[in-house]
Amino acid sequence: MSDDLRIIAVPALADNYVWLLADASGRAIVVDPGEAAPVRAALARERLDLAAVLLTHHHPDHIGGTEALIQGGQTPVYAPNDDRIAFAAHRVAHGDRVELDNPPLQFDVLGIPGHTRTHIAYHGHGIVFCGDTLFSVGCGRIFEGTPEQMLASLDRLAALPGDTLVCCGHEYTVTNCAFAATVDADNPSLTRRTAQARALRERGAPTVPVSLADERACNPFLRVDTDAIVTALPDAPDRVGRFAELRRRKDEFRAPAA
Ligand SMILES: [Zn+2]
Repeated sequence: MSDDLRIIAVPALADNYVWLLADASGRAIVVDPGEAAPVRAALARERLDLAAVLLTHHHPDHIGGTEALIQGGQTPVYAPNDDRIAFAAHRVAHGDRVELDNPPLQFDVLGIPGHTRTHIAYHGHGIVFCGDTLFSVGCGRIFEGTPEQMLASLDRLAALPGDTLVCCGHEYTVTNCAFAATVDADNPSLTRRTAQARALRERGAPTVPVSLADERACNPFLRVDTDAIVTALPDAPDRVGRFAELRRRKDEFRAPAA
């Protein structure tokens, strides 16, 4: 990430993160504002002016604060092509590029369907805003797609440079680590990440952003081709089968009480 950019995770709702990305001049973009109040508070506290809103998918916990933030439409909104996002927006899809003048930011739009059919990510400046598709040590539920689609979307994200900072939509890391240990317990990177995530949460700090390289090392949903996951899921026929089985088990997983 460039030195003159600042990234801030704003906790919202139960366990969402709204992301702020600001330049040195104090102009900021906001990604997935599920509610407005904590975003307004963060903008005021950090002395930032809102320049644009980027949305990854239509779920209310990612868009619910948008109308209250955009001052009657003065602030541009970028969103996937989905009529479940009702307000006026610049509609973007895979292969498009978001070009902002002030702050001067550029993002490539990646189509990453599976959690929802029109889910997108924004990649630029060494950062990816990936909504509810890739979480740290986990991935989103498949509500509107197939395991094949979701795995292809995760493959697309995992192909970004290793130093890319993953900015996801929820704080699920500690629970995700507990699930990951059920299939990848001997992975030292997972052990390290688990300890780190617990320590961060104990002091109320976010566990994200995290580097994509770390995710490739720890996240079972990005590790379906590794010997560890192949061995853990001997009945699955192929990588899509392993991914689908991991996702099925995670849907049923309840973390042990802390
Ligand atoms: Zn969602």
